[in-house]
Amino acid sequence: MQRKTLMQPKKSSLCLRSRSIGALLCMLLTGSLLAEERRDEVLYQVSTIDALLAGVYDSAASLGDLLKQGDFGIGTFDALDGELIALDGVVYQAASDGQIRRMPAETGTPFMAVTWFAPDQVFAFSDPVDFEAFKAQLEQRFPSRNMIYAIKAEARFAQIRYRSVPRQQKPYAPLAEVTREQLLFEQRDIDGTLVGFWCPSFVEGINVPGFHLHFLSADRAHGGHVLDFSMVHGSVELDDTSGWEIALPTISGYLDANLDSDRSAELHAVERGGPRQQD
Ligand SMILES: [Zn+2]
Repeated sequence: MQRKTLMQPKKSSLCLRSRSIGALLCMLLTGSLLAEERRDEVLYQVSTIDALLAGVYDSAASLGDLLKQGDFGIGTFDALDGELIALDGVVYQAASDGQIRRMPAETGTPFMAVTWFAPDQVFAFSDPVDFEAFKAQLEQRFPSRNMIYAIKAEARFAQIRYRSVPRQQKPYAPLAEVTREQLLFEQRDIDGTLVGFWCPSFVEGINVPGFHLHFLSADRAHGGHVLDFSMVHGSVELDDTSGWEIALPTISGYLDANLDSDRSAELHAVERGGPRQQD
């Protein structure tokens, strides 16, 4: 796997600062940070959203690989087998049959993004908000539109709509075709957690610009890719993320994919959901 680091992690700046204090402190800091291997301010992802849109669904890394880079995130599984939610270091599969399963570390993923979740802002929604108002109020709280934010919201929902995608067989169809057969679910009066990210528009092609949220119910019985909701009340945590590291897959499906075209229209269709409804 090749790694492309777009921004230096906070660890380095800590070390540089400490060097001015003294070499010994620097060594101590470096040693302790290396031992932890924790870089709170980095979004680490394997593969790109355009590769997923192009139908690159073969495993590029294991969940265990990703959990070394963070305890919080979203993605999907080998062969596009459902929606992925990583919360508190546990990876859940929201499968297209509506079931939630805890997935073992050796499970593969073609696309996943994680960070070590450490909130910089915590605030509450005490009055009901719909999805659009929720997004607008979060955007108002972002210190900048040029950073990445990890978003965790524990909330009560009057209603929430989400989807999952069915496991695919080769030859793989592009994601926009697959999501035409996605399964839509709706729950009412349910507690759960939103897990996901907001990314700037310049991530286009690599990750999802704007909000990308997955849902996991408090009883760990329901979940998927969020399409819409009406929140009764909730507590929101935002984690400012200034580093971004991308691991490009070295598998043939990725290396041979045509990633030259603009897939933003496909992404828009995929993110907003399709016509079929269940539950
Ligand atoms: Zn999703």
